[in-house]
Amino acid sequence: MAEIENRPSNFIRTIIDKDLESGKHAATHTRFPPEPNGFLHIGHAKSICLNFGIAKDYQGLCNLRFDDTNPEKEDIDYVHSIQEDVQWLGFNWDGDICYSSNYFEQLHGYAVELIEKGLAYVCFLSAEQAREYRGTLTEPGKNSPYRDTSIEENLALFAKMKNGEFKEGECVLRAKIDMASSFMVLRDPIIYRIRFAHHHQTGDTWCIYPMYDFTHCISDALEGITHSLCTLEFQDNRRLYDWVLDNISLECHPQQIEFSRLNLEYTLMSKRKLNALVDENHVSGWDDPRMPTIAGLRRRGYTPGSIVEFCKRIGITKQENMVEMGMLEACIREDLNDNAPRAMAVLDPIKIVIENFDEEKVETISAPNHPNKEEMGRRELPFTRELYIERDDFKVSANNKYKRLVLDKEVRLRNAYVIKAVRHDEDEAGNITTVYCTYDPETLGKNPSDGRKVKGVIHWVSASHGVKAEIRNYDRLFTEANPAAAEDFTTVLNPDSCVVFSQAVVEPALANAKVEQGYQFERTGYFCRDNKEAGLVFNQTVGLRDSWAKEQKK
Ligand code: ATP
Ligand code: MG
Repeated sequence: MAEIENRPSNFIRTIIDKDLESGKHAATHTRFPPEPNGFLHIGHAKSICLNFGIAKDYQGLCNLRFDDTNPEKEDIDYVHSIQEDVQWLGFNWDGDICYSSNYFEQLHGYAVELIEKGLAYVCFLSAEQAREYRGTLTEPGKNSPYRDTSIEENLALFAKMKNGEFKEGECVLRAKIDMASSFMVLRDPIIYRIRFAHHHQTGDTWCIYPMYDFTHCISDALEGITHSLCTLEFQDNRRLYDWVLDNISLECHPQQIEFSRLNLEYTLMSKRKLNALVDENHVSGWDDPRMPTIAGLRRRGYTPGSIVEFCKRIGITKQENMVEMGMLEACIREDLNDNAPRAMAVLDPIKIVIENFDEEKVETISAPNHPNKEEMGRRELPFTRELYIERDDFKVSANNKYKRLVLDKEVRLRNAYVIKAVRHDEDEAGNITTVYCTYDPETLGKNPSDGRKVKGVIHWVSASHGVKAEIRNYDRLFTEANPAAAEDFTTVLNPDSCVVFSQAVVEPALANAKVEQGYQFERTGYFCRDNKEAGLVFNQTVGLRDSWAKEQKK
């Protein structure tokens, strides 16, 4: 499914084609630069497919670089999960994994170079004062009183910063650019700050940490990146990206190109907010199957191919938009419709007894794993006197639209016989407990010989041979299409986003279901075995049809 050859072109590929044709570059070199402060989400998949996809198609290189300049927020566990997710999506980075923190020494050197050129200074304004001095979008800022400190003094002050002689927040190193610039990012941006924090890569070596804008462009240049692809919110930062590279003695100057980020309905796409969902226990973890993380989607039963296909369909543009969940679901549904073996599972069971079927008898029925793909083989279904069917699939009386089991009427058991309901038991509360039926032994794989028409087909599992399982059905995590717009996104959580069927029964072949093998539970949806729980637990990947579209029309 992950055929990158037919990928439609986009404006970034057009730029690359030109650069290769003109000889500006002999080959492409891109990078995927996550900050290890959370698990990757489906938005990152868009960036991964773009950057690694270009490397694949143009026989170029793509680095994986951890943009790790915020020691307090980052964690080695995130570093590991990110590597796993990139590889699971089917991509591999060239060379060693890169870390911005690998360049702390060089970055420090370039900061010193800026100071020596009179282009950076140590500033002691408080955060509040600095905000005041910065001005607004309509008013220019004011120069900091520390702007004209001599080069020698700045070098000495920066050395003191590095040596831990100032407190956190006491001073920062700022680039000297233009306090009247219409781009706020150019109003003497901070390029180094003090943080007495332990770093997952560099330990306690540093107490000054470079800011993102200063780090990113230099890291790109040091790695020889040709095209630095990022999301639109960095459009203004491009001025700073270029300013830094124009003013330090580094030959390489990658081109930053921005594209629109992925927004997906009914989900959040910010690691900070996803982290809050985890921390506040609104979900079971970063890999909760309702999370839009790669790990969550994997646990939910998404295949790498379906995610890559989704990224291909949404394309790369500069247009901000909100993608419908139905688009992502269509990709996995198409994949699983083609590739998932069929199976039968009863989520909410009710017992039926086939009174004219021998109590001791176990008939083995052979059923295809896929209706259109013989090569996927067959499985054996034990058929016994006592079976389970879905509680929803029986009614004492119903009109003709209800094509399932009704008292005194017939229905076909999928892959097996036609049965007729003759009577039923109820408990004191009026719940149906057992339905007694007869079966027509002449109807295995054929219609009744006397021409009776039996329209409905329902699924079933042998009561004696079926295996108990827990089945978890999922719905959207939020009730609002754009939860990020809510003042407090925890107020728009969907209380019914996970419905657990703890008494489910599945056909015996599923007892050994492998994790990451998707199944179509006939008439019910697509499911996969949970990759964490020790017992037999299945997660619903997606329904058989697009229920989102239907609900939105309501
Ligand atoms: P978040 O807000 O989720 O933390 P981020 O941009 O801060 O996102 P990074 O780890 O810095 O996260 O992102 C790594 C790369 O992935 C960046 O190049 C970024 O532009 C890209 N990226 C992040 N989110 C999206 C998204 N929703 N759509 C497309 N690309 C994204
Ligand atoms: Mg970021």
